[in-house]
Amino acid sequence: MMLRNIVRSGLRAHQKWAFAASMSSAPATAPIVKPEIHHTGIFVNNEWLKSASGKTFPTINPASGEVICQIQEGDKADVDLAVKAASDAFRFGSPWRRMDASDRGVLLNRLADLIERDSVYIASLETLDNGKPYSSALAVDVAATVKCLRYYGGWADKNHGKVVPMDGDYISFTRHEPVGVCAQIIPWNFPLLMLGWKIAPALATGNCVIVKPAEQTPLTCLYVAELAKEAGFPPGVFNVIPGYGPTAGAALTYHNDVDKVAFTGSTEIGKLIQKGAGESNLKRVTLELGQTSS
Ligand code: NAD
Repeated sequence: MMLRNIVRSGLRAHQKWAFAASMSSAPATAPIVKPEIHHTGIFVNNEWLKSASGKTFPTINPASGEVICQIQEGDKADVDLAVKAASDAFRFGSPWRRMDASDRGVLLNRLADLIERDSVYIASLETLDNGKPYSSALAVDVAATVKCLRYYGGWADKNHGKVVPMDGDYISFTRHEPVGVCAQIIPWNFPLLMLGWKIAPALATGNCVIVKPAEQTPLTCLYVAELAKEAGFPPGVFNVIPGYGPTAGAALTYHNDVDKVAFTGSTEIGKLIQKGAGESNLKRVTLELGQTSS
């Protein structure tokens, strides 16, 4: 009955699913009330950096209105650095390009293991930064992120082209290749899960990513960056630029060496992303859009 009302209330498909999942498996593990903040920097080339401008921005606990901590504020100069790192990591013959597809799957599964190991901490951090109930953060956001990474980890060596029958003495085949440097801009409502949905397919297929988390909720993304390093992703493959949309987000969108931008957020900003791609290098764009932000 309750679920039917939620469906009627017009929640998006994944939100309905998330709610149903959170109702079905209530976690028994208690949250960490004040989770320690380990990372507040810009993550490029597997290193933690301060912003080039020296600027920071606060991330706020929405339950209390208190500032949790200051985050390094990425901007165009930091984006340039990250794009250079990702381009180098994607260069032909690099460790990432030479890695077997099955080993990319191993890395994604290792990252899933590490998120699972730290699930109570990560769910507590998500609750602190985003305000969602801890039970939901643990049973939905963390659990589904782990499953998403494992799912795409399994695909890493199963995504292949076809041999096309040809007349005559010819062979014709298709080959799937990574796009290259992918910018991934995510919103605040599912900070960890959106991160998983963005990075897992991109890394499974051999791309390098630069993630810009929402300015309201950067903390779990920054923590996962450290776990990606611990899992063994080579430098430059997974980069994070925390910062604001019109500065860091736009710098990624307009960058001529970014090959693709994947965006989830409002329709209003989705239109700006498409415009920026068109006015720069006609990079590929995928848009998952909701209502216009006001
Ligand atoms: P938003 O579009 O304002 O922000 C989303 C992201 O875009 C943030 O990281 C933000 O910093 C960045 N951004 C803002 N301006 C930018 C610019 N000029 N260039 C590049 N990046 C920019 O969205 P919001 O209002 O903060 O978040 C919620 C929205 O996301 C809602 O409209 C919701 O419906 C939508 N959403 C949709 C889905 C879906 O499944 N379609 C899923 C989650 C959220």
